[in-house]
Amino acid sequence: MATHTTRMLIIGSGPAGLSAAIYGARAGMEPIVVQGLQPGGQLTITPDVENYPGFRDVIQGPWLMQEMQAQAEHVGTRMLWDTITSVDLQSGPPFRAIGDGGDIYEGETLVIATGAQAKWLGVPGEHELGGKGVSACATCDGFFYRGKKVVVIGGGNTAVEEALYLTNHSQDVTLIHRRDSLRAEKILQDRLFAHPNIGVVWHKQVDRFVHDEATGLLRAVALIDTITGEHSEIAAEGAFVAIGHAPATELFKGQLELDAGGYILVEPGTPKTAIPGVFACGDVMDQVYRQAVTAAGTGCMAALDAERFVQEREFLNIRKAVAAG
Ligand code: NDP
Repeated sequence: MATHTTRMLIIGSGPAGLSAAIYGARAGMEPIVVQGLQPGGQLTITPDVENYPGFRDVIQGPWLMQEMQAQAEHVGTRMLWDTITSVDLQSGPPFRAIGDGGDIYEGETLVIATGAQAKWLGVPGEHELGGKGVSACATCDGFFYRGKKVVVIGGGNTAVEEALYLTNHSQDVTLIHRRDSLRAEKILQDRLFAHPNIGVVWHKQVDRFVHDEATGLLRAVALIDTITGEHSEIAAEGAFVAIGHAPATELFKGQLELDAGGYILVEPGTPKTAIPGVFACGDVMDQVYRQAVTAAGTGCMAALDAERFVQEREFLNIRKAVAAG
């Protein structure tokens, strides 16, 4: 068991954590990134990325994350592979985290970049058809279904926004919802119902995703009526599951304030949590935008604020030392 100390401890290695690391390392904070269970975050399961600025051609999510990690290491970040099982935010700084092998991590500042996971339906075909017709992000993958028939599953803001977004690419969008009313905001509902290219199928639960025998790609979505139990099928080449996200904030419950959805609450417009020296960035504090580029942006902000926090503490310590003679 070892103790690792740093001026900037980063938990999570998606675009938010690695951007914080790049900025922190370049500012001399000698950051440590604890990578977690899914090193690289959600982008490592995103095959094609076309909306990250700077790349004209389609790039691969896993490749982008490898490059970010290589850049973070090149400027002096230490990447450690461990799963944090507990954190103590009350007695810091330094803030202390414990890994599942017992290693101790101490950071003068803590950057939380643990991300969020899309919720999945857990029905047959969903996992197998990932990247072959089934997706949880229309903004990321909608473009690949240009001119094709697509469906969106869910009835919240995300589902409605995704359905509206998909009309940029498809003239045939169907929203599938398990009840007869949406929980999305009224203004979004109004836009949805007014759109000539969007249809809504009510009272339907997805039974399974059906692939085409010849191509191996999504062909249809098999449905069950939630009232009559009747089975039916809707043809679709793209299906977007939009039933919510779950932020990875279990570790911080009781120590940081979370909103009703479990996201970390920060001072508006900043990555600052209620505990000075503890910052949150990326999807763990953002349930609205959730893009790689916005996560990277808030990671940068967290690093800049962490650096300022350390500088202010050092300045205060020097003043105290001078005053004490
Ligand atoms: P929500 O939790 O609001 O909605 C999830 C939807 O998925 C619900 O309609 C729910 O159905 C449905 N659902 C859940 N589980 C299943 C399942 N197993 N099978 C079928 N349907 C299922 O999640 P969102 O991601 O839409 O939104 C999360 C939060 O983010 C909300 O607070 C939202 O307001 C916010 N948000 C805000 C945006 C904005 O301001 N622009 C954009 C996107 C999100 P049911 O209704 O029956 O429970």
